[in-house]
Amino acid sequence: MVFRDGLVFPRAVKKRNDAMSYDVIIVGGSYAGLSAGLQLARARRRVLVIDAGVRRNRFASHSHGFLGQDGRAPDEIAADGRAELMDYPTVTWQVGEAGEVQRDGVGFVVTLRGGQRVAARRLILAGGVRDELPAIDGLAERWGRQVFHCPYCHGYELDQGRIGVLAVSPMSIHHALMLPDWGSTTFFLNGVFVPDAEQLQQLARRGVVVEPDRVQSISGERVDVNLADGRRVALDGLFVMPRTHQNNPLATQLGCVLLEGPMGLYLQTSETQETSVPGVFACGDAALAAGSVALAVGTGARAGAGAHQSLIFR
Ligand code: FAD
Ligand code: MG
Repeated sequence: MVFRDGLVFPRAVKKRNDAMSYDVIIVGGSYAGLSAGLQLARARRRVLVIDAGVRRNRFASHSHGFLGQDGRAPDEIAADGRAELMDYPTVTWQVGEAGEVQRDGVGFVVTLRGGQRVAARRLILAGGVRDELPAIDGLAERWGRQVFHCPYCHGYELDQGRIGVLAVSPMSIHHALMLPDWGSTTFFLNGVFVPDAEQLQQLARRGVVVEPDRVQSISGERVDVNLADGRRVALDGLFVMPRTHQNNPLATQLGCVLLEGPMGLYLQTSETQETSVPGVFACGDAALAAGSVALAVGTGARAGAGAHQSLIFR
């Protein structure tokens, strides 16, 4: 080990290349990246977190379903996590956006937008995903307030009120069959699919009202669904499955294998959260078919430990 300024530098890194100043670069400093960083920081490894600060749940005022933090503001949970992480002396925080990554011998070189280059032996992709919503007037501005995708996150607060599910594909029937546990449910087919006789029976057994007309727009204080034939259905909340997209091109640049999930592509990972590219780990929404804060923190912890142990055992 080499000691400098109170920091411990792993000798292998120091010897190989002075520019290779970090053990691990984490791209994304939200729940997943913070949790990964914490494991590495506690192993006294040199970690650089690069974060653009655009979390997926920034539209919601409260976060639910994460044990110990139920009902807190999403940014408060992230801010507490960041403060905990930054208490460790081997962690560096870089505000910015990683735009490009290249393999470099045993490590990786990341180029930030603006040109700065940083290098490390391991990379953790924790950049999350962004949501693409159906193009219906009035929908996007209610996202995270009266329009949601996750009933576990926001269903309870609707207080068993009037709930809508907007079909975006035949998969939406699963959404429609679940929601009656949270309130009286109307399934808006919006011309995207026609349930068969068996599906209609399933929906009827769950007490779901099927609305075949097209949705023209959303308006009102909460969620008024305006139908093509002029009718208006007043709701307390509307659920819709977004299409999700990886927040950055780094995984594609590296050639990591992505899998097709019900909402979009997510990174294939091993038991230790390693992607198909050795040395590249991934966690959180970027590496989950369907994510949550709890799963981001859980997979993040696994990615941090996985990346750390890979530095020792190979
Ligand atoms: P994110 O929190 O999305 O963070 C990714 C971070 O990486 C961001 O800061 C981003 O700027 C950064 N980043 C990306 N690319 C780069 C780059 N190239 N360079 C630098 N930084 C980069 N889950 C719950 O458990 N409970 C809830 O109540 C809940 N409510 C939700 C409400 C809404 C409206 C939405 C859309 C989602 C909600 N979720 C909820 C899901 C939750 O937001 C995600 O599961 C969680 O944020 C995933 O964490 P993450 O760290 O993987 O990604
Ligand atoms: Mg988030």
